[in-house]
Amino acid sequence: MVELKNVDVHYDDGVKGGVDALNDVNLRINDGEFVFIVGNSGAGKSTLLKLLTREIQPTSGRVFVNGYNLSKLRNRKLPTFRRSLGMIFQDFRLIPTLTVYENVAFVLRVIDKSKKYIRQRVPYVLNLVKLGDKAKCYPGQLSGGEQQRVAIARAFACDPKIIIADEPTGNIDPELSYEIVELLKDINECGTTVIMVTHEHNLVKYFGGRLINLRDGSVAYDNYIEGEGDEIYEDE
Ligand code: ADP
Repeated sequence: MVELKNVDVHYDDGVKGGVDALNDVNLRINDGEFVFIVGNSGAGKSTLLKLLTREIQPTSGRVFVNGYNLSKLRNRKLPTFRRSLGMIFQDFRLIPTLTVYENVAFVLRVIDKSKKYIRQRVPYVLNLVKLGDKAKCYPGQLSGGEQQRVAIARAFACDPKIIIADEPTGNIDPELSYEIVELLKDINECGTTVIMVTHEHNLVKYFGGRLINLRDGSVAYDNYIEGEGDEIYEDE
């Protein structure tokens, strides 16, 4: 669950009196939702994501994520809180010197999962993203789309409550972008909330669902749109 109450973020750049990146934002995303966030450059998308991961704190207002009041979260609780989030980035952020299997296993070892659990979980999530046969490859041997699928497997491996995907299709061939969103939709159907920032309106139009449009630091639109892809399936 995500809730923002009267959130303002003001960056003090010290020169021009600062920037109002978010203005009085009120937002609620329930468990199990799939949400697209769009908006022009400078609209406040990154700022919003940084609030959700508690990289930054609001200038005023309150942010709640997965039952944590982030204004009151003690630093020693930060790692536990962050474990309830899975992150996916535009540039994949895989470790180039580790195999696909090891990239996923690594994050599970960090959170002290047992060897037995890791031996079961890694093949499970790699099969989910249809990369079971690439477990021994290194990231550099994979296409962009495949690397992003590894990143999705890695994010999902820790069983987060929310997956935050920051322009996950930004570095991928357009035709493979649909596959990435399909995978995120599959993960969402397992119960994980997915929040995806994107510039690609064609994807949003195709898949539909809840769309939040940020403009100049405010929520300009927050509603459900019908997906054209659904219509295509229905016609067939
Ligand atoms: P988006 O991700 O939608 O492009 P951002 O959240 O990055 O938007 O930025 C929102 C506004 O805040 C922009 O005007 C941007 O220039 C400004 N901004 C972002 N980060 C900082 C920062 N660290 N210091 C000063 N201004 C910032």
